[in-house]
Amino acid sequence: MAVKYTDAQVQRLREYGNVSYEAKLFESIADRDAAFSKEMSEAASANEAGIQQMIGHPARHGLTQIMSDISNALVADGFIEVRTPIIISRDALARMTITEEKPLFKQVFWLDEKRALRPMLATNLYTVMRSLRDHTKGPVKIFEVGSCFRKESHSGMHLEEFTMLNLVDMGPAGDPTETLKRYIDIVMKAAHLPDYNLVHEESDVYKETIDVDINGQEVCSAAVGPHYLDAAHDVHEPWSGAGFGIERLLTIKEKYSTVKKGGASLSYLNGCKIN
Ligand code: ATP
Ligand code: MG
Repeated sequence: MAVKYTDAQVQRLREYGNVSYEAKLFESIADRDAAFSKEMSEAASANEAGIQQMIGHPARHGLTQIMSDISNALVADGFIEVRTPIIISRDALARMTITEEKPLFKQVFWLDEKRALRPMLATNLYTVMRSLRDHTKGPVKIFEVGSCFRKESHSGMHLEEFTMLNLVDMGPAGDPTETLKRYIDIVMKAAHLPDYNLVHEESDVYKETIDVDINGQEVCSAAVGPHYLDAAHDVHEPWSGAGFGIERLLTIKEKYSTVKKGGASLSYLNGCKIN
């Protein structure tokens, strides 16, 4: 009778290693437990080697490195980097139609009655985009890379605290969808992930999005305007916008077994388990 690793064994192995342990089959429980000990010890040694490599070669963190690579590529294409507040108002969420009946509303971390930690960057970017528009006749191209917060039921690709990169071009030259695809390509190449698929998805907030997908995993949702959300923000021009999850990009690039290895953490550093 073929036996598999127990859930506890898989979980333990995934903390150190990045192989898919679930599918492995063994002839007996004794064989399995012997394989577990061996695989655990190899994974722990590789992990320790990774820690020694980091100590021996001080470097930027993988997450900030990828943020920096993407940011530089966007600036080179004429985007301005902006920084907006992490604390946002209930009204700002309502302008994104994130009100009590929407699923995303229940995922919001509230600070008090009127203020929350932002679950997305878009609402702030609408405001900045509208302000800058009054200063130029040309397009307004801006992006922000920053922390977002959502209550999540746990999965290998969800963090409650994660980093979004959101770009928007208001008044793009040419067709907004074609422009959007060009920007997606700039970001994906800068992230060293040039092979991806574009898929049409339904969205609670945006109604319809173009998602960037790698092996069935969403790494970005993008949309174009004019859009039904625009009126609430006093925006009326065509636009192209996209939001990427930086930890997901890093996790896929580095083949981490869980997004936790790529995020802000006290347990992991650059994919290595440190505690
Ligand atoms: P999912 O359906 O996978 O939960 P979403 O469609 O709710 O994601 P969006 O609102 O489209 O997410 O956010 C844009 C991008 O931000 C996503 O494509 C993803 O890469 C990233 N992202 C969203 N939520 C999380 C999270 N909890 N942890 C890590 N990254 C996230
Ligand atoms: Mg999405």
